[in-house]
Amino acid sequence: MASALIALGGNLGDVRATFNKAIPQVCGMTQAALVARSADYATPPWGDEQQPGFVNACIEIETSLDPHALLFCLQKVETKFGRDRSPERRFGPRTLDLDLIAYDDVRIDRPELTLPHPRLFERAFVLVPLAEIAPDRVIAGRRIRDALAAVSTDGIVRLPDFGG
Ligand code: ADP
Ligand code: MG
Repeated sequence: MASALIALGGNLGDVRATFNKAIPQVCGMTQAALVARSADYATPPWGDEQQPGFVNACIEIETSLDPHALLFCLQKVETKFGRDRSPERRFGPRTLDLDLIAYDDVRIDRPELTLPHPRLFERAFVLVPLAEIAPDRVIAGRRIRDALAAVSTDGIVRLPDFGG
């Protein structure tokens, strides 16, 4: 079994409800156990700053799928929840974005799958929830809590527990 860290994001529709439905589907499709789930965080828009703000979270799963099969499943779940993958929407509003952040200590350097995720250390909206569930995990030689300390977390707000 491998430990995989997955970042969730979205800014269209009821994103928190989408997360709650998508997480069990990810685990079911990937034959995985959910090890940890962060809180949800409201985060400022990026890419096109005119779009609505995002909600972000991270999960850790234990899976027996290889990294490519895992990414394939993540993309299937994205599509199921209405993600429009047309290139012109790349940095625009999305219902659900599922990024594979790390898979054990595996390194892959291909356009369709880069591991660890290449933009991890510049994205506070990934590092904040990741530091909640895996502060001492070392990815590409950097401890998550140290990586978090090096970025601005302005505008990132931890949301109260779902339903609370
Ligand atoms: P982003 O997540 O950067 O906003 P997308 O979700 O549209 O962008 O992903 C674009 C492409 O990135 C996908 O087609 C996918 O194959 C590729 N990709 C490469 N590495 C990864 C990874 N670690 N996790 C998710 N997607 C990845
Ligand atoms: Mg993505």
